[in-house]
Amino acid sequence: MPDSAKFKETINGKQVHLYTITNGTIKAAITNYGGKLVSLFVPDSSAKLIDVVLGYNSLKDYRQYTKNGSYFGSLIGRYGNRIAKGKFTLDGKNYQLAINNPPNALHGGPKGFSTVVWDVVKTTPNSLELHYLAKDGEEGYPGNLNVNVTYTLTDKNALDIAYKATTDKATVLNLTNHSYFNLNGDGGTINNHLLQLNASKFTPVDSTLIPTGKLEPVAGTPFDFTKPEKIGSRIDDKNQQLIYGKGYDHNFVLDASKEKGEHLAATVVGDKSGIEMQVYTDQPGIQFYGGNFMEGGDKGKSGKPYEHRTAMCLETQHFPDSPNQPQFPTTTLKAGETFNSVTSYQFVMKK
Ligand code: BGC
Repeated sequence: MPDSAKFKETINGKQVHLYTITNGTIKAAITNYGGKLVSLFVPDSSAKLIDVVLGYNSLKDYRQYTKNGSYFGSLIGRYGNRIAKGKFTLDGKNYQLAINNPPNALHGGPKGFSTVVWDVVKTTPNSLELHYLAKDGEEGYPGNLNVNVTYTLTDKNALDIAYKATTDKATVLNLTNHSYFNLNGDGGTINNHLLQLNASKFTPVDSTLIPTGKLEPVAGTPFDFTKPEKIGSRIDDKNQQLIYGKGYDHNFVLDASKEKGEHLAATVVGDKSGIEMQVYTDQPGIQFYGGNFMEGGDKGKSGKPYEHRTAMCLETQHFPDSPNQPQFPTTTLKAGETFNSVTSYQFVMKK
């Protein structure tokens, strides 16, 4: 486990700590700075504990490396992924957000939820509840938004992330967690992991990674993960979408709908560890990002730099740029409504 003393600091009058939770089998470390999942130790088939998420050893490193835009383990909001040119219209009013991923706005802006200190509402041995009030106008978004996120390690060997949000004025909302997984542990490619995505369509993008608005079938393309497939087996295919994403960096349209509640969205198996992770969500999409922008310019928890494609993200979410794409499921949260959602990263223990 990382040294909690290296996470103790007061930022803008708020105390930052590292919290440890366990269900007896899995252990997680989370800091209330950006609500980041710092470590997630899961046993492999020989009961050896493997830390399956990437991250840093100290708050100082997290803050220093924020500039490389990797968002390791972070809670993301108010709007996850991109909004075209940072513009949207809501209730007849135009909004302009900061352009932090030119020419677009990304992951809630330069001071998004990944960079703020969350209040700690409650801790139990296996859970941590965080709260953040994003003020009306903060990062350019309308409405005072109260967000509660609870991390729980359950009896099913899952890390559940439960999101709840309310606003006093209509706003746009897309909450997710941006953990970088390598089920073999820190270091080494993820291209030999086996991935299955329960998505028969995806949202193709333009050269700036904004969805074109179409939902395209994955059948017959390198985006077909409807059956377990090695992540890297088709990554060098001459495919315009892979060129735009510099690999996989796309939103997949999940086949099951919100009406069905939480459903299996993805399954990943680490080729070396044999660790299997299942992702359940009630959200309509999942961003599969294959670590294409990782460049090794930092030093990770084990002291090694995080090189190209040595981790993957599976960000459960609404589709990118939904505020400008009325045909996509809505991301508007109105005053008086409550947004509730759960994503569950479940580990299958093989005896
Ligand atoms: C985005 C990528 C981005 C990464 C890290 C992902 O959610 O889709 O384009 O590079 O986050 O910022």
